[in-house]
Amino acid sequence: MQQIINRFISYITIDTESDPESNTTPSTEKQWDLANKLVEELKAIGLSDVTIDENAYIMATLPSNVEHNVPVIGFVSHFDTSPDFTGANVKPQIINDYDGKDIVLNAEENIVLSPDYFEDLLLYKGQTIITTDGTTLLGADDKAGITEIVTAMEYLINHPEIKHGKIRIGFTPDEEIGRGAHKFDVEKFGADWAYTMDGSQVGELEYENFNAAGAKIKVKGKIVHPGYAKGKMINSMYYASEFINALPRLETPECTEGYEGFFHLHDIEGDVEETTLQYIIRDHDMDKFEARKALLEKIVFDLNTKYESEIFQIEIKDQYFNMKEKVEPVMHIVDIAEEAMKAVGVTPLIKAIRGGTDGSQLSYMGLPCPNIFAGGHNFHGRYEYVPVESMQKAVDVICKIAELTAKEK
Ligand SMILES: [Zn+2]
Repeated sequence: MQQIINRFISYITIDTESDPESNTTPSTEKQWDLANKLVEELKAIGLSDVTIDENAYIMATLPSNVEHNVPVIGFVSHFDTSPDFTGANVKPQIINDYDGKDIVLNAEENIVLSPDYFEDLLLYKGQTIITTDGTTLLGADDKAGITEIVTAMEYLINHPEIKHGKIRIGFTPDEEIGRGAHKFDVEKFGADWAYTMDGSQVGELEYENFNAAGAKIKVKGKIVHPGYAKGKMINSMYYASEFINALPRLETPECTEGYEGFFHLHDIEGDVEETTLQYIIRDHDMDKFEARKALLEKIVFDLNTKYESEIFQIEIKDQYFNMKEKVEPVMHIVDIAEEAMKAVGVTPLIKAIRGGTDGSQLSYMGLPCPNIFAGGHNFHGRYEYVPVESMQKAVDVICKIAELTAKEK
């Protein structure tokens, strides 16, 4: 446990915040600081083929220690942290034997991590919890995943009696800005399948995520002197609000859960001349996803018809797709993970992600890639925390997956 804590802290105290405004890979220079350190560490624990490319993608191999043929499996996580909240000068606090009460993160600023609000904390009574000091995020997303993968590889190296096939590990930059998989060389990685260690609560196992698209609606108006505008002015903002109200008000993020999809209006910019609406569209079900996109097109068509003018223009772009399509044909990769969890005393929580993961992109790039818990909670903010016991369980799950995959049938 102490080794996990030390390793985790050595990663989170290096700032690796990514930046969506940047066009380089990695998006921020400082991500190299941790990337270079990881490369040295992977070599030091005895992995082979440790490589880092010009975009800071890291790969390494743990060779097979059995004679028979075993599928090559991979474990993937990301070393950047979210630009939603600062990741500079992380000062972790370690709460031993958590008593189930409020945790004061910062007395000076009165920042408290309370189970009254974050009930999940009570799952970890009696455990060791790592929190922030209330002024930064923690970076458990996803340095917990990296800690677990490195620790598991080290454990397998030190315990050659555990039989496993070839294992590939991959660490990426820029996952938090949606680009973690973009420059991932699936062919070079060379695994039959992989797992991202990037979920939250202990037990999470996910192989379904949203289908996702973005829509931009431009509403064209006409500006005329307001005193002489009768019959001439077209105020694009009123037309935009007509469009907004034509969509079902209850199919929004704040009114949906589980497998319910939504339209999310996340940005409006406008004046009389022109208003732009930005939506994201999400649905697990491909048919419903297509129907949502078709509905947006139809509203635009109907309104343009009603006003006998091309006031509305729409542009829809697909963003990512549900990995279920790619994982279901190879369901044994989920079954193995589930079996591994049960074998190490973790109750599997299989549920659909209401978002995307690098694994969904990788799955469509030819590397089926379900997501497994890394143990952290409340990602991307000051209330982020991770129980050390959950990280230990993730290490156990990785080792057990390796062992089960190598079992002779
Ligand atoms: Zn993550």
